[in-house]
This record gives sequence, C-alpha cells and structure tokens, in this order.
Amino acid sequence: MSQISQIKCPVCGQWGQWTGKIDEKCEHCASLLDPERFLYVQESRINEENKKKNDYFLVKDSDETIVQLFKIFLNPVRWGAFYGGAFVFIIVAIMLVVFGMFI
Ligand SMILES: [Zn+2]
Repeated sequence: MSQISQIKCPVCGQWGQWTGKIDEKCEHCASLLDPERFLYVQESRINEENKKKNDYFLVKDSDETIVQLFKIFLNPVRWGAFYGGAFVFIIVAIMLVVFGMFI
C-alpha cells in the first residue's frame, strides 16, 4: 500500500508525485503543490503559539501533569481577574491552603 498519488502542479500544470506532505514541492518547478494548506498549517501553528504565550500561566512541557492541569484550569480564571482581580486572588489563596492541607 503506497500513499503516493498524482497531483497536478498549480503553477506549471505538470503532473507529479504526491505523497500528501504539506510542504511537498513540484518536481518540475519546485513550487508548493498545496500552498493553501501549507499556509493554513503554518498560520494555525503560529496562532497556537501566540495563544499559549498570552496565557497568564504558560503551560510548559517540562511541567508535571498535575501542574499543567492546574495551570490549564487557572488560565481562564486569571483572565477573569482583569475584571475581578481581588476575588480571584482570594480563590487562589484558598485553593493553595486547601492543597496545602492535602500535601
Ligand atoms: Zn510545477
């Protein structure tokens, strides 16, 4: 079973091999065979990174799972803090106390 199929180059109109990779290039003119999909994937990757950077708590791969879950849960809470900061701060403080009792 092979994934290779034929695709017509959008730039030069020649037929070439197509393995389904997003950065697949035409073997005749070296232009991207699927530029729209390529751009879309690039864009959504950048958007995803920006979104993560803008989150109050940056979820890092190096964090332990429980810490990541904690941050993911707290992120929307922290965004709400723009409108009710002190309230959220108290909630976090209470949570820390509660967690502190169990650890
Ligand atoms: Zn081409």
